[in-house]
Amino acid sequence: MPTKTVFEPFRIKSVEPIRWTTRAQREELLRAAHYNLFLLPADDVLIDLLTDSGTGAMSTHQWAAIMEGDESYAGSRSFDRFRNSVQSIFGYKHVIPTHQGRAAERILFKVMCKPGDVVPNNTHFDTTRANVESVGAEAVDLLKPEGRHPETRLPFKGNMDVDALDTLIARVGRERIPLVMLTVTNNSGGGQPVSMENARAVSAVCHKHGIPLYFDACRFAENAYFVQQREPGYADKTPRQIAQEMFALGDGCTMSAKKDGMANIGGFLCTNDDLLARQEKDLLILTEGYPTYGGLAGRDLEAIAVGLGEALEQDYLRYRIASTAYLGDHISAKGVPIVQPPGGHAIYIDAKAFLPHVPVDEFPGVALAAELYLEGGIRSVEIGSLMFGSAAQMELVRLAIPRRVYTQSHIDYVVEIILRVWERRDRIKGMRLTYEAPFLRHFTAHLEPMG
Ligand SMILES: *Cc1c(COP(=O)(O)O)cnc(C)c1O
Repeated sequence: MPTKTVFEPFRIKSVEPIRWTTRAQREELLRAAHYNLFLLPADDVLIDLLTDSGTGAMSTHQWAAIMEGDESYAGSRSFDRFRNSVQSIFGYKHVIPTHQGRAAERILFKVMCKPGDVVPNNTHFDTTRANVESVGAEAVDLLKPEGRHPETRLPFKGNMDVDALDTLIARVGRERIPLVMLTVTNNSGGGQPVSMENARAVSAVCHKHGIPLYFDACRFAENAYFVQQREPGYADKTPRQIAQEMFALGDGCTMSAKKDGMANIGGFLCTNDDLLARQEKDLLILTEGYPTYGGLAGRDLEAIAVGLGEALEQDYLRYRIASTAYLGDHISAKGVPIVQPPGGHAIYIDAKAFLPHVPVDEFPGVALAAELYLEGGIRSVEIGSLMFGSAAQMELVRLAIPRRVYTQSHIDYVVEIILRVWERRDRIKGMRLTYEAPFLRHFTAHLEPMG
């Protein structure tokens, strides 16, 4: 019988000290950062749950592979290893390395979309939406309605609404939809997985109309684990087999290796289409680099080649998903409203339900994130009206868990701080914007508390 305790399946060989701050210091720091946690120096953060992107700890195998990096400008053997590793999981014909996920997105949409086009997705991530819009196309989110209800406990709340996809294609016409995207897991929708059944149905609709299907594959390994655990018929398959089966339903993908690539930087773009691949490589050369390195060092390609395999290990995924659920279950047991059930890489607090007295135009998510920093030096991120403006479907505060970085006692501390803020939630005020940039404003916005 499996034990109740799931411990971190690694030993720690190298440590990074955390520097303490006082509440008075944090008050001053928060003011100086204009209440935007992106503007804080990382050294002034105690537990950094801003993102799980590029913040993971690499393994001894990855560090060893880094020494094998071949830094040749063209034809690097590190690229061969990288491509082989990617193809063994994703199976696509062309593998184009990029410096991170958004570079893959920019190239994909630039090559495939023109002004007036429409790109459906279960939910576009912020950079994905911005890259679709920057080429004059429209980004449409077609999440199944239950995915928008934080409290509903269902196994696959990242699923796309297949009927809505059919309706959209009928309404705008196949020729205006150059591709459909499916984000696994659905980051902006609470880190919720997409079922194989849903991916199969979306793929069938796309291929009936001759529309290519691309995966936004950033957390493909976590998604595969959820399929194994929750979807009938997959309990005896490995996460690798499940990932292979899912990617075979599509025509390509974009990927940030900073997530389930287990690396600190990197990404890639895959396609089965020879003509597109050629156009994509031409653009790559213009801004990212030659197609055998694409803006990465040979050592980065090595780290990703190893990391993709580690992300699919059963023991790692069991620990990963259990440790995220540990945080979610401990705060929700005390009444804190979170997106249920806990997602793969993060816990999302429902800020609208946490602060019902703060209206949406006073950014309840930003206000709550600021309080978590004040109370205990925890850095989180708002995923709501500041990030998405009027396209926001929920007001969430995301606590993203870096891979293999924090132990259970760090998370116990986070639970304690969240519960303290929960106790005094009635006295938390909303926020007002004092500066915003034209694109992706949440990264640089300035705010101040109301009143
Ligand atoms: C992180 C992320 C991206 C963008 O990747 P970067 O490496 O940050 O550029 C795209 N889509 C999803 C779902 C992501 O989580």
